Amino acid sequence: EEVVNRIAAGEIVQRPSNALKELIENSLDAKATNIVITVKAGGLKYLQIQDNGSGIRSEDLEIVCERFTTSKLREYDDLKEICTYGFRGEALASISHIAHLTILTKTGTAKCAYKASYENGKLKAPIKPCAGNNGTQITVEDLFYNVIARKKSLRSPNEEYTHIMEVVGGYSIHNSHVGFTLKKFGENTDIKTPMNSSVIENVRIIHGNAIARELMEIELEEPTLKLSLKGCITNVNYSHKKGTMLLFINHRLVDSLSIRKAVDSVYATYLPKNAHAFVYLSLELDPRNVDVNVHPTKHEVQFLYEEQIIEKIKSCIESKLLSCNS
Ligand code: ADP
Ligand code: MG
Repeated sequence: EEVVNRIAAGEIVQRPSNALKELIENSLDAKATNIVITVKAGGLKYLQIQDNGSGIRSEDLEIVCERFTTSKLREYDDLKEICTYGFRGEALASISHIAHLTILTKTGTAKCAYKASYENGKLKAPIKPCAGNNGTQITVEDLFYNVIARKKSLRSPNEEYTHIMEVVGGYSIHNSHVGFTLKKFGENTDIKTPMNSSVIENVRIIHGNAIARELMEIELEEPTLKLSLKGCITNVNYSHKKGTMLLFINHRLVDSLSIRKAVDSVYATYLPKNAHAFVYLSLELDPRNVDVNVHPTKHEVQFLYEEQIIEKIKSCIESKLLSCNS
């Protein structure tokens, strides 16, 4: 059974940035306004996230890494919605099966913080009271230490760090009210965005001024498709060999080859050959129409009414580019 759990966990968490994404979403769910991430060896050796969110109650610490343990279902009274959210309470459990996981946490009302270490979903030793700030610090060490095949396929800490930068950069742009810090252990800070910043300011911090000064906001409401779109795209003055596409669907960073292709096809009319734009899109869709069968930790997302929705996105971007360049 242990082996089965480990294999399942290795499918969900394919690389350090997948684990980090889950941990960031937990911090955001806990209403954190500041998140500090520290990494060693591309997250393979050490991945720590510190937030100033609600914290975890000491009585919940015992079960927090068991599968399907979640505090988030009570928000969804509609059973159908619970189903479409599907896999809940799996992130910490999965990580604890393939890494050494330690939680240090304090709620606002607790007298002290508590520290707990986990292995294979269970507490490794009794929970210890200790000193600590309000919020939660989660430390993931030796990721994939017991998944030999995975460890071998992830040879480059630098490449893993690039993925981590993408995830932190993406979430900090999408959640510009939250301060994000990313650094390698004992080294200089690579990303630092302040609290209560703005989307454009964070694009400037992370991607530079050349992109930030070309940014234009787009917005679209399409009630019949239960679609609402917000975003920022570069104007045609900016183009780059390697474009950037940041796509959030219902506040999760995801990828969609079809949206990517559609956006590229719009820009192809305006940009030189092989040049790309910077595009940040935040789509809100009826959760019932998203990802019904695809595991949420899989990067590539699927949703209903894809063709109609993509047409709307294309014409929204197209009309913005036209109106600004005529
Ligand atoms: P889910 O997010 O689907 O509930 P997870 O395995 O990601 O499942 O987390 C399990 C539970 O642990 C959460 O429901 C939440 O109660 C608690 N938790 C995890 N991370 C944090 C955090 N940073 N701050 C507060 N609570 C957290
Ligand atoms: Mg979670």
